[in-house]
Amino acid sequence: MQNQEEETKKHIAILGSTGSIGTQALEVIAANPNKFAIEVLTSNTNADLLIKQAIKFKPNAVVICDVSQYNKVSEALWSHDIKTYAGADALEQIVEMEEIDMVLTALVGYAGLKPTLKAIAAKKAIALANKETLVVAGDLVTELAAINRVPLLPVDSEHSAIFQCLVGEFHNPVEKIYLTASGGPFRGWSKSQLEKVTRAQALKHPNWEMGAKITIDSATLMNKGLEVIEARWLFHLNPDQIDVIVHPQSIIHSLVQFTDGSMKAQMGLPDMKLPIQYAMAYPQRIYADFPRFNFLDYPQLTFEKADTDTFQNLTLAYEAMNMGGNAACILNAANEITNKAFLDEKIGFLDIASINSACMAKATFIQKPTLDDYIGSNSEARRIAEELVKQ
Ligand code: MG
Repeated sequence: MQNQEEETKKHIAILGSTGSIGTQALEVIAANPNKFAIEVLTSNTNADLLIKQAIKFKPNAVVICDVSQYNKVSEALWSHDIKTYAGADALEQIVEMEEIDMVLTALVGYAGLKPTLKAIAAKKAIALANKETLVVAGDLVTELAAINRVPLLPVDSEHSAIFQCLVGEFHNPVEKIYLTASGGPFRGWSKSQLEKVTRAQALKHPNWEMGAKITIDSATLMNKGLEVIEARWLFHLNPDQIDVIVHPQSIIHSLVQFTDGSMKAQMGLPDMKLPIQYAMAYPQRIYADFPRFNFLDYPQLTFEKADTDTFQNLTLAYEAMNMGGNAACILNAANEITNKAFLDEKIGFLDIASINSACMAKATFIQKPTLDDYIGSNSEARRIAEELVKQ
């Protein structure tokens, strides 16, 4: 019985286990010990939490990307019989481990691209929490996944919603999808109000608990822009089939409209553990004791148009998507620099979109990029954005 149970467990590698998605994924796994086993945990720099997680979840191996912390991690884990590796190369190699069934990509930003490609090439199912991977090189990633027959299971709540609406409908044509957006903490604000916005104000998201990078992206609507591009690749849609609707209560997580005019929505209280669990357990739905939605707590669900004049990042994302080629890679790279520069209080809130826009105009456009082109474009756009941040 014990062995049978072991065999049916899904063996999971979490890339970025110490971040917001990673820690919530571990909560889901801790609540379902007979469904999931942890093979690999990795962290960029948070050695202390990685050590704690490893002692609790007993993975086969861990990776600390920051090489300078290797000794600390390996000394703490040697007596626990857990293999320890360090560096970005180790992160790319570890996903090929035979025992892994699924890789949860919960890394932040462009750093997710190469390990995700390696995991797909090694035929591991992907629970995709790193949207930047598809934004940067969606054509290459989806093509490689198709060749290797690897499922890309979305963890992003909006994309999980669309995916859940499409289960059982995969052969029925989609007319369009609506990605819902909370509007972030500055919904309804004018440009002059936004000029003086502080880091602390931008880090207070009204509905979702998330890491710092995505919280700033949500405040600038860049997150929704990246999600539009992510949706394009995940669901094989044209740019004009993807719409954004602001829904401040974050109860409806997104909608699909079919060619007969019928619409399906997925809804629930905003809790990232739900889409994480859905992706990890797919195609099963497993029990969760998450709080239930009560209609009487939400007598009104409201909808409004996104203010794309004020929040220009969303407009830039549509522009990048329509241009195709490496445009979204350039926008993403610029945004990683400007997002960080805002968090470091080097630029103002509105500078984020204006530098992103200037960077798109300056960086070299390539219509049919290879992986090396994407890698080069990412570096070029970062350099340009860094120069613009200094000016
Ligand atoms: Mg999302």
